[in-house]
Amino acid sequence: MKTELSEKLYGEAERVMVGGVSSPVRAFRAVGGSPLFMARGRGSKVWDVDDNRYVDYVLSWGPLILGHSHPAVTKALRRAIAAGVSFGAPTIPELKLAQRICSTMPAVEKVRFVNSGTEATMSALRVARAYTKRNRFVKFEGCYHGHADPFLTQAGSGMATFDLPASAGVPTAIGAEAMTLEFNDIEAVEDAFRHHGDELAAVIVEPVAGNMGMVPPAPGFLQRLRRLCDEHGSVLIFDEVITGFRVAPGGAQELFGIKPDLTCLGKVIGGGFPVGAYGGRRELMQMISPDGPVYQAGTLSGNPVSMTAGLATLSQLDRRAYRRLEAASAGLESALLEEASACGVPVTTNRVGSMLGMFFTDAKVRNYRDAKGSNYKLYPKFHRTMLEEGFYLPPSAFETIFLSTSHSERDIAATRSGARRAFKGLAG
Ligand code: PMP
Repeated sequence: MKTELSEKLYGEAERVMVGGVSSPVRAFRAVGGSPLFMARGRGSKVWDVDDNRYVDYVLSWGPLILGHSHPAVTKALRRAIAAGVSFGAPTIPELKLAQRICSTMPAVEKVRFVNSGTEATMSALRVARAYTKRNRFVKFEGCYHGHADPFLTQAGSGMATFDLPASAGVPTAIGAEAMTLEFNDIEAVEDAFRHHGDELAAVIVEPVAGNMGMVPPAPGFLQRLRRLCDEHGSVLIFDEVITGFRVAPGGAQELFGIKPDLTCLGKVIGGGFPVGAYGGRRELMQMISPDGPVYQAGTLSGNPVSMTAGLATLSQLDRRAYRRLEAASAGLESALLEEASACGVPVTTNRVGSMLGMFFTDAKVRNYRDAKGSNYKLYPKFHRTMLEEGFYLPPSAFETIFLSTSHSERDIAATRSGARRAFKGLAG
C-alpha cells in the first residue's frame, strides 16, 4: 500500500495544525503510522489521496448511516446550497427536522438545534441544573459527552485512547461537580443517590456506550436510572448523539422503552454536516431563552444545509433500511468472531444494531475497566493489516465500528477474508 502523498501532506499539516489534525484520535497515534488524507467517498467506500480504496467502518465517526454521497442527500443538498446556505432566521428544513425528531421520539416534546454534540450535552446539563437548582451530577466512566469542562474527567473516546484521566485547563471545582461511576454498576448509582440524592441535578449516560469500544447497558440498568432520577427529582439525560436514529429510529430510548427527561442528538441528524440538538419535556425546554432564563444561542444553529442533509438522511431510513443495517452488522460480527476463533485469537464482540465493539479478550466487556483489561495492545497491528487489506477501521481500540445501509454482503465477505489475514498475523 503506497501512502506517500498522505505522509507528505501530514508532514505539512503538522507544521500548521496541532497534531496535524482537527480532532485528536484522527492523528493515528494509538495505532501508529501516518493518518490517511481522504479524497472522496461513495457508498461504503472511501479513497485516500494516494487512490487506495477502503471499505469504511468509521463513516465520519457515525453520522454517515447511508454511507458516503448518498444520491438523495446530495441532490437535496445541491438545491439547499443554491438557495442560500445560512440566514440566521427560521427556515422550513429546520422546522421539518424538528417535527420529524419530535414525532419519532415521544420524549422530545420540544427541541433546540445547536452545532455539535458537545454543545448539546453542555446545554442539556445547564438546563438540568437550572431546573433542579443543583450543581452535582452523575456520569459514567468511559462514556464521552463532548469536550465541555464538566465532562472531561474519566471520559471515553480520545481521553480513553490517550489514557488521560482529566484535561488540563478545567477548574478543579468544575471537575469536582461530576461524580463518575462505573457504567452498568447500579449499586454504585444507588449508593450515590442514597448519600447525595438531593444534590444531584442530573444523570447523564450514553444509553449504549460507544466511546469505550461499544458496551451495551446491562438488563435493567437504564430502567433503574430512570427510577432513581424520579425518586430524587433529578433529570435523566440520554446522550444519544451516536445512538439517535442509529440503533432504532427513536434511538436507544425506543429500543429499551425508557423516556429520558432530556435527549442529546447529533451525528445522524446532520447527515455529515455539523449539527447537534437537545430536547425533552416541555417543562424543561421552556427554561431556555427566549422562553426562560437559561441562555443558549448559536449563529449557525439550525442552518438550512445541515438541516436539509439531516432530513434527507432520515427520509431514507425506513424499516427496510434498518433491516439491512442489522443484517450487514450481524454478518460482520459473526465474520470477526469466526475468523478470530479459527486463528486462536481471543475476541469478544458487543453489538447493538449497526454499532459494533471488538475486544481482544475472552471475557465479557461490561464497562470501561473490562475494556481496558482487554489486550488492546494487539489492535495497532490488526488495524494496520486491515488497512493494507483495504478496510478502514477506527484508529483506536476504544471506538465503535459503524456500518451503513450501503455496506453489502460483498463488503462483509471481503472483510471476512481481510480479517482472517489480520488475525493470522496476530496469531503467527
Ligand atoms: N456525545 C457522544 C455520545 C459522542 O459520541 C460525541 C462525539 N463523538 C459527543 C457527544 C460530542 O459530539 P461532537 O464531537 O459533535 O461535539
